[in-house]
Amino acid sequence: MSPAGPPTPPLRDRADACPGALQTHSAADGELARVRVPGGLLRADQVRVLAAAAVELGDGALELTSRGNVQLRGLRPGSAGELGDRLAAAGLLPSDSHETARNLLGSVLSGRAGGLLDARPWIRGFDAGLCADPSLAALPGRFLATFDDGRGDVAALGGDVGLFALSPGTVALTLAGADSGLRAGPADAVALALAATRAFLAERAGQGGTAWRLVELAEGLARVTARVAGMQVEAPADPRVEVPAEPLVRPIGAVPQDDGRTALAAVVPLGRLTAAHLLLLADLAAEVQLTPWRGVVVPDLADGSAADLLVEAGLVLDTDSPWTRVTACAGLPGCAKSLADVRADATAAVMVGSLPAGGARQHWAGCERRCGRPGGAVVDVVATGSGYRIDAPTA
Ligand code: SF4
Repeated sequence: MSPAGPPTPPLRDRADACPGALQTHSAADGELARVRVPGGLLRADQVRVLAAAAVELGDGALELTSRGNVQLRGLRPGSAGELGDRLAAAGLLPSDSHETARNLLGSVLSGRAGGLLDARPWIRGFDAGLCADPSLAALPGRFLATFDDGRGDVAALGGDVGLFALSPGTVALTLAGADSGLRAGPADAVALALAATRAFLAERAGQGGTAWRLVELAEGLARVTARVAGMQVEAPADPRVEVPAEPLVRPIGAVPQDDGRTALAAVVPLGRLTAAHLLLLADLAAEVQLTPWRGVVVPDLADGSAADLLVEAGLVLDTDSPWTRVTACAGLPGCAKSLADVRADATAAVMVGSLPAGGARQHWAGCERRCGRPGGAVVDVVATGSGYRIDAPTA
């Protein structure tokens, strides 16, 4: 179901300032770099490169973001160039000019367990097409593309442009998280998504060039659809399909793969992966997948026996754990705007069993900006300077 009612577009009087690997952000605890990981898919050698960079250049850990990307914090001054070199050598920075636009989410476990098709070729194809088109370097850093194999996990996350498999042979183009009505076969779907991405930029330019997201354009869904339909793919379908409003699946624990092997899906408490976690992950599998709900999947295992190692390391595979329902922004000391050390406070509340709102799904934030807030029905736990205010989700 699409969100009810048209959103009120914010007025943008400046370009977005999303951090990247090269375009770092100065935080209270040092420089912060965000590394885009299309589809959340990382080879073991890339995991090791990130672990070494976190230890040798940063604060020793990676932060997972709600877009399946990673952040390094506390980078020593002047280390951005060295970080860029390391990332480029590992294949994590294929284009300096497009780095902040590569926000690509893919269905978790696609091609391994469930789904109507394998979305991974879409992710690789879209990323390559994006980086090969100089005009797409102008995409805002807030741009998001989603590639959902039909299971309804990432289609729900409000991508500006998305592919959503309706059957093994039919793919819907989604725009701002809603069905555009445009269809393609799986082989033509990447071209359709790239056409929609260019159409977003063209429409954005036509409306003054300041919007960060497609939803911020006046009649964005209709106008971008019309631009793409003008290039003609398949005629808009009617009626439109309903795109899930919340992810329909978020695997936790052992998941049987279609090939008989096992994947282990773990929640990472507060999204912080230490170097020790990273080296364990790299030892267990040739590839891991980061999830948009701040978790990590270790696939292609002979069985689930490695679960004990992950749990001993502090990762969570228990669906009843409160950590499956708690997220937090950086807070103090990393963010100077914060009114509290929200991570320490949230951790203490989990440990003593005193989470507010009966332990409902909740996001702790050090100020009203609520950075990193997941979508959907989430209780906000907001620092006020004299405790926390609990905001129930709006209907
Ligand atoms: S929500 Fe506020 S305190 Fe938290 S990271 Fe964002 S700006 Fe900082």
